[in-house]
Amino acid sequence: MTVTEEIKNRLDIVDVISETVNLRKSGRSYAGFCPFHPNTRTPAFFVFPETQTWRCFGACAEGGDLFSYVMKREGWDFKEALRVLAQKAGVTLETDVPVDKAQKAVEDRLGDLLAAAATYFHQLLLHAPQAEAAREYVSRRQLSPETLDYFQVGFALDSWDQCRTHFNSQGYDDQDLVDAGLLTENPDKGTRYDRFRNRLMIPIRDGNGRVVGFGARTLDPDGLPKYLNSPQTKLFDKSNLLFGLDGAKRSIREARQAVIVEGYMDVMQAWQAGFRNVVAQMGTALTQEQLGQLKRLTKQFVLALDADAAGAKATLRSLQVARETLDRELDVRFDAHNLVRYEGRLQADIRIVTLPEGNDPDKIIREDPTEWPKLLAKARPVVEYVIAVLTQDLDMGDAKGKTAVAQQIVPLIEDIQDPVERDHYWQRLAHVLRVDERALRQVRRPDRKRPYTEQATAVKPPVNPPDPIPLGKNLSAIKKKEDFFLSQSLHHPKALTDVQQTLHQANQPIVNANDFTTTEDRALWQQMAAWSRGGAFVTIQDLCDSLDRALLDRVEHLQTLAPTLDANLDRLSDQLVIAVLDWRIEKTRQLRTDLLRFVTDAKLQGDAEAYQEYMARVQELSVIKGKLDEAKNAMSASSRRRAEDASLGRF
Ligand SMILES: [Zn+2]
Repeated sequence: MTVTEEIKNRLDIVDVISETVNLRKSGRSYAGFCPFHPNTRTPAFFVFPETQTWRCFGACAEGGDLFSYVMKREGWDFKEALRVLAQKAGVTLETDVPVDKAQKAVEDRLGDLLAAAATYFHQLLLHAPQAEAAREYVSRRQLSPETLDYFQVGFALDSWDQCRTHFNSQGYDDQDLVDAGLLTENPDKGTRYDRFRNRLMIPIRDGNGRVVGFGARTLDPDGLPKYLNSPQTKLFDKSNLLFGLDGAKRSIREARQAVIVEGYMDVMQAWQAGFRNVVAQMGTALTQEQLGQLKRLTKQFVLALDADAAGAKATLRSLQVARETLDRELDVRFDAHNLVRYEGRLQADIRIVTLPEGNDPDKIIREDPTEWPKLLAKARPVVEYVIAVLTQDLDMGDAKGKTAVAQQIVPLIEDIQDPVERDHYWQRLAHVLRVDERALRQVRRPDRKRPYTEQATAVKPPVNPPDPIPLGKNLSAIKKKEDFFLSQSLHHPKALTDVQQTLHQANQPIVNANDFTTTEDRALWQQMAAWSRGGAFVTIQDLCDSLDRALLDRVEHLQTLAPTLDANLDRLSDQLVIAVLDWRIEKTRQLRTDLLRFVTDAKLQGDAEAYQEYMARVQELSVIKGKLDEAKNAMSASSRRRAEDASLGRF
């Protein structure tokens, strides 16, 4: 998922637009007076929650997504809109601007303090008389001195102020310690005290080996929480850290596989046993940022999940609960939907293995290291895994049960990007459920859920639960054409000149930013157009260098889409022109359909004025569509002729 998609997932366009426009529900959509052109009589401005888009059918005749709305309303460019909406959605942007010097100085100071803290805690574990119980604990966990040293495992004294006093004497003030997450502040009482007390301290490093925080295990048998992490700080952000990554990079490359486990102990135990391609997620569902760091090293990931995290066999046994679990609880550490999407986006191979109940990697490796590779070999692809878990105790005589299972799995299959793989799972699911594949393909998707449960409080639920409607399907067909167009243009920028010329000759507008559905693609197109005109850019690298981080993600994804095998530029540009005409036809058709709904509404309500106005627009759109059809037919015919000529010429 690109960052703009993530933002759109978290924010509801109806909410955002409602901040400034008075919207009234009308059928499945919302209508109001357009904020961009003077109109007070007939509402011409519509918001479609299902597709998260808006459109003005009046004087503006414009539309778009959340970003384009905000950009137009505030007069912002894409970058500015991205910054503000990301903040609103609680999404962290990987900024492409170099960190300014002052900020870097602050981070360096924090980094130094954290590194010093890791050393301080480590020395305490090794030498402090008060650390006797801690030393017993690590020896019970069979962590060798070498391992303790490598990970710099430490101990925090059972005290409210020892750490603070120590670092105050080293020249760090309380604010430094609060910023580093070592000191906790109680603003009500105005008190400050050591965050970590009587805990085993495990330094967490970023991919470059810099200490950014700590994971701390309680040594008190009744202590809660069992693990206490550093709070979010300038350096510590759980969503983009993987424990152990700094030391695992080389092994991941060599093994061509990254194994992702749940706990610090698992990573340390694996490292000790010589399995060094193992990292741990940080107690949240695997994020795209985390996988993004790994994908530079390998495309193959194995998730080794504790039996309970993977949805507890016991829990998944009952389907009603499984449904709940897949939707909510599992989300915490295992989100099948996101995994399937990441897989497509990253062109990765993600596999899952569940550990035997009551076991974690730490225990398995301690008891018999040879079991570990055997276990990993049992890892299964995500969809295969979900099918197996959800059907293992399903009564094949229970029709309702089968439907419930199908409803869970069908959306996953639909999300698979590779057509062959997708087809494989349609067949597989049909086979397992013993139903006809065609029936499966008609299974209604359950309401699409919002993937970010952590943010649940910040995100209002969709105002009306979307039904699966053809609009959404068509939209994705359009999106595919746009993706095809953009990806081919990236591979063969030279074809673009031809495309524009052909459209111009056919009396059609040349490809412009408004041709694209998402604002992201609109912004990308503007850069690409400049690039294809040959101005400042020569290579695709030049293009990439000119792009924001957010757009770079998109380009990366587009580049993974297969280049056409046909390197003949003439034929390629024909295909591209036809793609453009196709999506313009489809969009016009959709608009017309949307508008007809309002025509019907207006008629039912006896609103003659609105009826007239909408009808006029419908007729306009019919004319436009007629011209587009004509252009496409002419184009297809000439393209065929050209292909025939070419093959005649060749023989
Ligand atoms: Zn308008």
